[in-house]
Amino acid sequence: MRTILFSSQTYDRESFLGAAAGIELHFQPARLTLDTTALANGFDVVCAFINDDLSAPVLEHLVAGGTRLIALRSAGYNHVDLTAARALGLTVVRVPAYSPHAVAEHAVALILALNRRLHRAYNRTREGDFSLHGLTGFDLVGKRVGVVGTGQIGETFARIMAGFGCQLLAYDPFPNPAVEAMGARYLPLDPLLAESDIISLHCPLNDATRYLINADSLQHMKPGAMLINTGRGALVETPALIEALKSGQLGYLGLDVYEEEANLFFEDRSDLPLQDDVLARLLTFPNVIVTAHQAFLTREALAAIARTTLDNIAAWAAGRPCNQVDA
Ligand code: NAD
Repeated sequence: MRTILFSSQTYDRESFLGAAAGIELHFQPARLTLDTTALANGFDVVCAFINDDLSAPVLEHLVAGGTRLIALRSAGYNHVDLTAARALGLTVVRVPAYSPHAVAEHAVALILALNRRLHRAYNRTREGDFSLHGLTGFDLVGKRVGVVGTGQIGETFARIMAGFGCQLLAYDPFPNPAVEAMGARYLPLDPLLAESDIISLHCPLNDATRYLINADSLQHMKPGAMLINTGRGALVETPALIEALKSGQLGYLGLDVYEEEANLFFEDRSDLPLQDDVLARLLTFPNVIVTAHQAFLTREALAAIARTTLDNIAAWAAGRPCNQVDA
């Protein structure tokens, strides 16, 4: 089964080659876009990551080149035109779960770093500045943490925050009994935003959740609250964050995802001028930390992504597709 892995990095090569058996793998660092579809000619399987373009025109080119399976190396599939895939007879499979701990623990890392100003302290002590002004944090115990989306990652995140002694609030159209059993109180979104000291987003991106956090909902938040987004960039209307940070309405912001990340993240652009003015402005705030979609990046998660993706390809080749995503 000839498989091309778009957007592949060194760590993908290591994890996939460690697990591959009987599947011919071609590692392609380029992102899949309309301009790069020709690279997939003759490959039965296109293995894609989160910032690859899987819109209808791209899928049409892939099918014309002989591709029959799209194997996502991700859980999220908001970047795939599933209606077009179905019409073209393409099967789409994903990795529904690899390590909810990887993402949940990264959300917690952002909370701790922002609260205790570790990013500022790290730079200060390296410069010989051992002063403490501006580094005051708060105790997490007793604080209210609002978990938006309490599936696998949200549940894991909630359990960690319960361990800190936080009070859990939750919002999800389908409440999770395991999260209720931790003592979480399910609320509609607005009261959750109003009551939470920390809000963490763990819901999928879809029509109902696009810009869930916007200029209006930011005004409903507790003044000075912390917002963490390790879900998808477009859950948040990013320009509205800038005004909320300037006024102090938003006290802290931790982003692992950004709506316009596709042309930026996963590349070293340190010698180029940053063209994205919204991101550039966000990066000037001392109470903002942006990571480049790295929440999934643990050894355990990479091994699980490789194993499940290869199993998905083998199952499809054997006529028993699993982990299929359908329109
Ligand atoms: P999951 O399917 O287990 O859980 C998602 C939860 O969101 C479900 O409980 C669902 O009911 C809930 N939900 C659906 N619509 C909602 C809405 N309108 N409001 C609130 N909640 C809603 O998924 P998961 O494995 O926990 O992953 C969650 C998301 O995290 C993924 O969709 C993906 O976008 C993101 N993610 C990010 C990274 C990263 O590296 N930053 C890695 C993996 C996943």
